[in-house]
Amino acid sequence: MKSSVDDFTKIREVNVMRIKEGKENGMKVVGKYCTYFPEELVVAAGAIPVGLCGTKEEPIPVAEEVLPRNLCPLIKSSYGFATSDTCPFFYFSDLVVGETTCDGKKKMFEIMEETKPVHVMQLPYKTEGKESFDLWVREVRALRTRLEEEFDVEITDEAIWKAIDTINIETEAIKSICDLNKMDPPPLSGIDLLTVSWSRGFNIDKVEVIDMLNGFTEAAAASVDVKSKNRPRVLITGCPIGLGSEKVISITEEVGGAVVALENCTGYKTLELQANKEHSDPIVALAEKYLQIPCSCMSPNPYRMELLEKMVEEFKVDAVIDLTWQACHTYNIESYEVEKVIKNKDLPYLHLETDYSNSDTESLKVRIEAMLEMVEK
Ligand code: SF4
Ligand code: SF4
Repeated sequence: MKSSVDDFTKIREVNVMRIKEGKENGMKVVGKYCTYFPEELVVAAGAIPVGLCGTKEEPIPVAEEVLPRNLCPLIKSSYGFATSDTCPFFYFSDLVVGETTCDGKKKMFEIMEETKPVHVMQLPYKTEGKESFDLWVREVRALRTRLEEEFDVEITDEAIWKAIDTINIETEAIKSICDLNKMDPPPLSGIDLLTVSWSRGFNIDKVEVIDMLNGFTEAAAASVDVKSKNRPRVLITGCPIGLGSEKVISITEEVGGAVVALENCTGYKTLELQANKEHSDPIVALAEKYLQIPCSCMSPNPYRMELLEKMVEEFKVDAVIDLTWQACHTYNIESYEVEKVIKNKDLPYLHLETDYSNSDTESLKVRIEAMLEMVEK
């Protein structure tokens, strides 16, 4: 079945209806905000993992009644959607899983518990070392126990291995789509890439979403986006972006760039990570996979730099934009390292700090245009 970007645009709406029906028949739903969430456990529990809303500006004023204004827009938007009951996926969630990725998020989750049961996974802050690994293994086990208790089910090792297979296949399928843009000209615009990779998280049926992704790869590989020919090829890295917070991608394309790759959580950051089936314990395999995620909350975070270097080469990137949401300290500070890596490759680099509003559109345009002019084509 060939699928189009439009099919992905419709996923959220279609799946709200399916979740509503499913809930009436006893389906259990677990909401997530972050890529550290080991969704294999939820699939193995026979429940539905679903992404929660947090990429739009509208609910931010409601959030600011409780949360400080100078907080990252992603946290305020997530909390605003939840507390104003405007994210249907949050409304239908039986449990929300959070992680202690950054201070803002972990403190927000404490308040969110007033609205919904929230299970917070305590993350270590470094990827190396036995203590970190053991702590994370314990946290993944604790989530398994919480899901078993919450939904009154037994999660067998066998079911987890089966779920690992499914998620490994889904990851491979979305990676194949992102990899299409290694071609010159790239077949996909940055907005199409974002629409497909972000929207898939709202689909409740894994088998169906894998089919959609494979069908999309086939259709997209055969198409050529002529308007991207000879445009500077831009990679965007930094904080997560979703539909509603895509302004840096749209502006870049509006002023003549081709966004060929996204190295962030809605893009490539986790796509090379697969749970290793050679472990005898599936929890260890999951812990190992997720602890490798190169989020800036890890200190140090060398894999992000390695991944960036590799992506710059493979996607034949001409310039890099590093996007930090206001008040995100870890990505903001890590931009120092990112700049060094990109400048070493003699490429133009632009660090932007912004929020979800459109108040700085004009100045972003001027800065991105100026960066693109530095590209030698
Ligand atoms: S950037 Fe870090 S905290 Fe944000 S979604 Fe990704 S892994 Fe989670
Ligand atoms: S963008 Fe930064 S501050 Fe915001 S939730 Fe992610 S890690 Fe935390």
